[in-house]
Amino acid sequence: MPVQVMIVEDEAALLELLRYNFEKAGYAVEAVTEGDVAEERLKETLPDLLILDWMLPGLSGIELCRRLRQKPRTQALPLIMLTARREEADRLRGFENGADDYVVKPFSLNELLARASSLLHRVSPGLVSDVVRVGDIELDRRAMSVKRGGQPVHLGATDYRLLEFMMRAPGRVFSREQLLDGVWGGEAEIDDRTVDVHIGRLRKALLKASEDDPIRTVRSSGYSLNM
Ligand code: CA
Repeated sequence: MPVQVMIVEDEAALLELLRYNFEKAGYAVEAVTEGDVAEERLKETLPDLLILDWMLPGLSGIELCRRLRQKPRTQALPLIMLTARREEADRLRGFENGADDYVVKPFSLNELLARASSLLHRVSPGLVSDVVRVGDIELDRRAMSVKRGGQPVHLGATDYRLLEFMMRAPGRVFSREQLLDGVWGGEAEIDDRTVDVHIGRLRKALLKASEDDPIRTVRSSGYSLNM
């Protein structure tokens, strides 16, 4: 599953250039030109990374950033701010409002891609490497195999994707909706009950290798993977 990035930029040519280069680097890109539209979209979908232009018509990037940081759901969303402003004070304001990183225009695309990748390595290492470990669980993306405490864990394709998705952000509570969105990609036939069934199967498979249950059920909220 590719890493999802949302890019919010009102300059059409720059947006296309960013989209092209991020897609080439293997990301799945959602391109948005307005702050208000991005705010609405982020209520429905949660990307792995947000690239946000500071100056946007309507709701500005800096204000959107501030609002996102106030909501538990988007508090920790990895966020890189793009801006033409060079002043030190403005840069500080960007960090104060919750940007994880800050890239000044004009920037080199390679620099932005490198910063994006290093931010993801820092905040969600599970997203960008072939072998991901959470506690005693090890998932190998190339081999599409899972081990727990060195023992192979046999999973169906969907349960594997579910585990892979949850391993991207250990400790984070995913709602059933987020899991449906991230693992099933919004297939029409699937409902919340399906998530519970697959979580049950995944849990059972993982418990065969060790008696510690790594999946936490958070009442009325969803599930998280904890070790
Ligand atoms: Ca702009």
